[in-house]
Parts: sequence; structure tokens; C-alpha cells
Amino acid sequence: MKLKFFSSYVLLIGVLLFTVIQEFSYGDSEDKYRSERERMVTTQIDFRHVKDGRIGVKNEAVLEAMLRVPRHKFVPRKSQSRAYVDSPLPIGYDQTISQPYIVAYMTEQLKPKKDYKALEIGTGSGYQAAVLSGLVRHVYTIEIIEDLGKRTKKRLKDMKYKNITVKIGDGYFGWKEHSPYDIIIVTAAPNHIPPSLVQQLKPGGVMCIPVGGRFQVQSLILVQKDKDGSVKTKQIMPVRFVPLTRNH
Ligand code: SAH
Repeated sequence: MKLKFFSSYVLLIGVLLFTVIQEFSYGDSEDKYRSERERMVTTQIDFRHVKDGRIGVKNEAVLEAMLRVPRHKFVPRKSQSRAYVDSPLPIGYDQTISQPYIVAYMTEQLKPKKDYKALEIGTGSGYQAAVLSGLVRHVYTIEIIEDLGKRTKKRLKDMKYKNITVKIGDGYFGWKEHSPYDIIIVTAAPNHIPPSLVQQLKPGGVMCIPVGGRFQVQSLILVQKDKDGSVKTKQIMPVRFVPLTRNH
């Protein structure tokens, strides 16, 4: 009898110790996510060319931003364990958060600088805005789905991103009030480049935008406005984004 009591006592202590050790080694899983982020940056973004011929992202500041921003906090709870996989993920409302590589690649193309003002069309989860926010002075971002926009606004506030301003509305017309912008990023695909966005780009500024129909392969396009105001466009890669929708 005494021995039985003793062994269950030992068992109990064992279970307790195991839990404590696990708690310490995984923290509240933030360490686990940190190492998933490191793996994501190394295998999917930095050394991308080894994998599928796409060019690796080399801008150090961009790679650091990808390491820093906790992507798992921008996806629905049930998808958290898949937050760092090499693909886009659903975020509800029929929308998706872009593949990590695409976020990093587009950000690098924009050549962000600390004193820049950026405009994003298609806030979604707020992840792209959060990545940009550490690289520029201010990010203005527009989301057309009201509920999604409100939730993301709260998320960014709770996470203490102070240099991101979210507006609910149709981003097709840009956000004139704060224009001109050094950089503009569009994360939903229209079938043509919205003229207002080109207008709101600063001379010397750059815009990265996927263009194409819903059932077509879209092209990621880099729009550059020269100092004299002339505009050049360059196709950089085939992509697939959710469509840019319009308020009627
Ligand atoms: N950048 C986002 C991914 C966005 S998915 C992220 O990091 O999570 C594209 C988003 O664009 C969706 O949330 C969609 O609702 C929004 N969108 C589509 N058309 C829009 C429009 N005309 N104006 C503003 N947002 C739009």
C-alpha cells in the first residue's frame, strides 16, 4: 500500500516536472514560431533560387522585417500551425494572406527607406502593412471589406503598430489626402492600373501591382515614375492574387 502511494507520488512529480520543462523549452511557443520564421526566411525567401528558380530576396532590412513580424498572429487561430508554410493562406471573407516569399519580394522591389510614406491597397490581415511599417515612416492602407478592416485595425492597435493607418473604402481611387506616396503596393488584382494610383505616386516613386483578370494569369508590374513625371512599367513575374473588387 505504502509503495503504491509512493509510486503514484513519483509519477505525479514526474508529470509536473515534464510540464515545467516543456513550458521552459517552448516558452508560450513564441520560440517555436521564431525558429519557424528563421527557417521560412532561409529556405523560402533568401535561398529561393535553390528551390524553384525564383530569385532569392537579398535586401537585409527586408529579411529582418520578415524575421521580426509574427505572421502566426495575422492568420486565423485554426491556421496558426501553418502560418510559416510556403503558400498563401485563407484569412476569412474569401480573402488570403499572400505567400511569405511574395510579401518579401514585393517589399524588396519597392526599395523602402526610413523616411518614406507608403500606401497599400488591400489591407487584408495587416501582415504586409506590418512588414512595411518597420521599413518606412508611415503606412496608409485601405481595405474594402468593412468587418475585415475593423478586425485588422484592432489587431494592429493591440500589437502596437503605431505608424499604420487603416481606412475602410475602395482603394481604386487611392487616398488623396496623404498623397503623394514614395511607394504604393497593391495586394489585390485589378484588370488595369488605376490612374489615381499613378497620379498619387511621387516623382521618383514606385508602385508594385498585380494586374490581370480573375481567371487569367496575372502579371506583377513595377510602375516607376521618374523625377520628370514620366511613367515606365515593367512586368516582373506571373502571380495569382484575389481580384480587386469595386464598390458600386
Ligand atoms: N495584404 C494583405 C493580403 C490581402 S488579400 C495581407 O497582408 O494580409 C487582398 C485584400 O484586398 C482583401 O482583403 C480584399 O478585401 C482587399 N480588396 C479587394 N478590393 C479592394 C479595393 N477595391 N480596395 C481596398 N481593398 C480591396
